[in-house]
Amino acid sequence: MKKKIANLAVVNNKTYEATRATNLQHYDISSALQTTLNFHELITIFCEKIHLMIPHDGMVYCNPQFNLEFKKGMNTRHSCSYKLTIEDLPLGELRLMRRQRFGNEELKLLEALLCCLIYPLRNATMYQQALQMAQTDPLTKTKNRTAFNEAIAREFKLANRNSKHLSLIFVDIDHFKSINDNHGHECGDIALASVANLIKDSIRGSDILFRYGGEEFVILLSETSLDDAEDIAERIRLVIYNHTLAYGMQTLNMSVSLGVSSLRGNDSIGSFIKRADRAMYLAKANGRNQVKRAQ
Ligand code: GH3
Ligand code: MG
Ligand code: MG
Repeated sequence: MKKKIANLAVVNNKTYEATRATNLQHYDISSALQTTLNFHELITIFCEKIHLMIPHDGMVYCNPQFNLEFKKGMNTRHSCSYKLTIEDLPLGELRLMRRQRFGNEELKLLEALLCCLIYPLRNATMYQQALQMAQTDPLTKTKNRTAFNEAIAREFKLANRNSKHLSLIFVDIDHFKSINDNHGHECGDIALASVANLIKDSIRGSDILFRYGGEEFVILLSETSLDDAEDIAERIRLVIYNHTLAYGMQTLNMSVSLGVSSLRGNDSIGSFIKRADRAMYLAKANGRNQVKRAQ
């Protein structure tokens, strides 16, 4: 009978137990991290899971690609931070903080455990990128109608619950068809993107711009009264009116008509939108290049 030859690594019991424990920890952390594609939840789970092995008083995670920064616990004198990447894909930076210095063994363990976090973070990144693409208009790089429907439902609820102002501005480019007719569709596309950029530069970070359709945009302004929204609309009108667009050897000027509405107590989302839309058509009917507020 042939003898079976097996290659066995010789380990003492201590090493074996330690390896087994580490594998179980990895398995436990990896399983927990598979339950979500949300950055905040991933980092929270990871920090909770490693807390017994690597005690810490606080953590900060930031991911500029998605405009994320969250903190837990306190800032302390000592910290260790890791810029996480996978094949050139940035996954954000994680910093753990503690009153006492982290030991070398702890850092080694942390680095090993961070391997469990990398792939779930990559999955979350890809998922968020896909979500962003599905909600972004490729021509103007503004959010699209799907994103608008989601955002207005969320803001409508928040404004009603907290009795806060919420306003809408509809913006429609005047005689846009003649730009396409006179200068070509490509020029029309450039004009659209340039109007979107001018609006983006005229609003606050908390206001959100959406492409509502063709040459029509809508801005959602949380915690903004009708008067303030009207001022912002007038500022946008002027910025666009005073801008000259260069296209090859030609230059062209544009104007926009704007309608503004503010949320009322008895509004549905539909009536709130309709009022701003109607005000915009009133601005058109009244001669264009002007702002009208909903009555
Ligand atoms: P008004 O002042 O009444 O708003 O007139 P208008 O010409 O702006 O409005 P109209 O609805 O008659 O025409 C809108 C035009 O916008 C027609 C359509 O071809 C053009 N358009 C819509 N989307 C795009 C786009 O993505 N790119 C280009 N180049 N044109 C577009
Ligand atoms: Mg138009
Ligand atoms: Mg239109």
